[in-house]
Amino acid sequence: MTAESDDMGEARRISVMVPAPLDSPLDYLWAGDMPAPAPGHLVEVPLGKRRVIGGVWDGGRYKGRQVALAKLKPAIRPVDAAPLDAALMKLVDWVAAYTMSAPGMILKMCLSVPEALEGVPVRKHLFWREGLSAPDKLTPARKAVLTLMADGIARTPSEIGELAGVSAAVIKGLEEQGALVAEMRPVDQPFAVPMPKAEGPVLGREQQTAADSISAAVAAKDFAPFLLDGITGSGKTEVYFEGVVEALKDPTAQILVLLPEIALTAQWFDRFADRFGVEPVVWHSDIGQAGRRRAWGEIAAGRARVVVGARSALFLPFRNLRLIIVDEEHDPSYKQEEGVIYHARDMAVVRAKFEACPLVLASATPSMESRVNAKAGRYKELRLTERHGAAELPAMRVIDMRHEGPASGEWIAPMLASAIEDRLGRGEQSMLFLNRRGYAPLTLCRTCGHRIECPACSAWLVEHRSERRLVCHHCGHSMRTPDNCPECDDTGSLVPCGPGVERLQEEVTARFPTARLAVMTSDTLTRPGDMARMVAMIESGALDIVIGTQIVTKGYHFPNLTCVGVIDADLGLRGGDLRAGERTWQQLVQVAGRAGRGDKPGTVFLQSYDPAHPVVAAIATGDGEAFMEAEEAERSRFHMPPFGRLAALVISGPDLAAVVETGRRLARAAPQGDGIHVLGPAPAPLARLRGLHRHRMLVQTGRDTLIQDLVAGWLGRVKPASAVKIRVDIDPYSF
Ligand code: ADP
Ligand code: ZN
Repeated sequence: MTAESDDMGEARRISVMVPAPLDSPLDYLWAGDMPAPAPGHLVEVPLGKRRVIGGVWDGGRYKGRQVALAKLKPAIRPVDAAPLDAALMKLVDWVAAYTMSAPGMILKMCLSVPEALEGVPVRKHLFWREGLSAPDKLTPARKAVLTLMADGIARTPSEIGELAGVSAAVIKGLEEQGALVAEMRPVDQPFAVPMPKAEGPVLGREQQTAADSISAAVAAKDFAPFLLDGITGSGKTEVYFEGVVEALKDPTAQILVLLPEIALTAQWFDRFADRFGVEPVVWHSDIGQAGRRRAWGEIAAGRARVVVGARSALFLPFRNLRLIIVDEEHDPSYKQEEGVIYHARDMAVVRAKFEACPLVLASATPSMESRVNAKAGRYKELRLTERHGAAELPAMRVIDMRHEGPASGEWIAPMLASAIEDRLGRGEQSMLFLNRRGYAPLTLCRTCGHRIECPACSAWLVEHRSERRLVCHHCGHSMRTPDNCPECDDTGSLVPCGPGVERLQEEVTARFPTARLAVMTSDTLTRPGDMARMVAMIESGALDIVIGTQIVTKGYHFPNLTCVGVIDADLGLRGGDLRAGERTWQQLVQVAGRAGRGDKPGTVFLQSYDPAHPVVAAIATGDGEAFMEAEEAERSRFHMPPFGRLAALVISGPDLAAVVETGRRLARAAPQGDGIHVLGPAPAPLARLRGLHRHRMLVQTGRDTLIQDLVAGWLGRVKPASAVKIRVDIDPYSF
């Protein structure tokens, strides 16, 4: 073979990133007549026994073994879909390197709907029109079809079969006889284009200033990160809607809005539709395969203009992303803890940088990370310090449960009970917050002291009385609530300890028998639309009292809600990790923020056994700034995030001894050096989960250290014991 033909052969080599847990792209041979596709194009290639769709990649950044040309497998075919753009490919590479995950698994999130890749799908439709020949034999089945189809609407054969209750053969017969005509038609309709109303709301002065900054950045088409820090009810949504309006002036611009727990945010959709005339395009795990295909296809084609999604929407293949909004940016659900471990808020900042577009992080309780970034000038801070209109922040009352608590066996203190009574008399609403599903968090045997635990996790089973079951909230294991103690077999000795929302419901029903009451948890709101129905009932005044878990904290606006009771303000503080204070403060401010949003003033009651705790005190005085300032000083002193870098190594396996042994090996090989601190191994926060033992090590470094390199070197020196896995979590949420 001459050197020249060898070069030509090399031009037929393509690097393809495949959606699989590999460290780098794979090389394939491009065998057809067409020139080899450029990076970004999608191709189908063989992978083991499977065929997969991957992206042609610039393999240069990944060093791998160069496979000889003659040994390469040929690619199968090009895929007829818009290519991935350079910014998205850069994001894949970057997120993989940062989170220490396989780049193919990041790409997999971008290509989450392979069947959408083939342009707009078409399917055979049949329809009837005037003048078609009648069938020669009109059986009852044929008659049923023709009666159905007389409306002239095109339907797929399977739809016809279902609606008319006939077999496929009957339909085929009618088609062959020319009594129905066939046509290939697109299955998916394009989404309606959002059109902002000519007149938006009149913004307050602070709102206007913030909106102007965002709009100017959108018009400038460059990377510009904002922290929109506005108290609850200050109208942050209206502010970033102005940015969306500005972006939509460009007829090809796309806008991404990330919301936590998007399936629950019915009110947000109404507000969007109100302002923009249509619903936005939605992306989350519950929209179903068909919904995903349609949304993915329209986003990749650049036609879906405003997309609202959960964290995974961050990896969608937008064509011209011009604005990213991360609402409730402090929310822990932005951290994905399974599969690829990443924080969607942080990765959104990176994507905005690569796309050269503005980014708005919005919250009433900014995360410590964003707060510090804003202070350092990395984000521009936009502040809203007043509630919109006549609404005032609610008054705060701390109930000292040591002196003012209820009788034993009850959970609502007299002061809170009389406040609810009062609201009932005035036709106003109350909300009780308790972040615990089920009836009771612990079932205890009075005779032998046995506590019923999950066989697979280090956790108690939670009683769900309405289903007569004990359930593990970590792995889902459940059992029928036993009559006898499983340990000593005594009868009637099992007692529930502590309250869950079901138990609270029992007490509320007994105290206020005429009140219209609802419980809002992930157990009671299971079907799509349940949340929207419940929200509508609160809005219309069909409910007097609502009991809820953290589900009720998500940005809702109920003008007639004037009393909020936090049943156990100390609950989140008992976990003991270093972020517990920040997290509890955020949650309590959000719950409190539901009260008094209309023109009637609200009051928030915090039941606490530790009123002097800084978090409870911060809520009571409303001085969150002082609290976060103190937290910040503490983090800074210990070089904890965001002042230092942190990575967790989670060691897990079925055999405790092997897990412990792997921890020892890791400890012996631990990185050393100035400013490097290694903690552990110690049992992880859930020391057993789904039957696996879990230990954890933390490594902490200064901000300028490349912690990924340090961890990679460390893992390279250690061989885990058999059946033990080590997972890396960069920037663990709790520490
Ligand atoms: P936040 O998200 O900051 O808690 P919202 O955006 O939910 O606040 O606003 C609170 C309420 O005030 C909403 O009902 C919203 O429609 C209304 N609102 C906010 N700003 C304005 C405005 N400029 N004009 C009219 N209504 C507004
Ligand atoms: Zn379990």
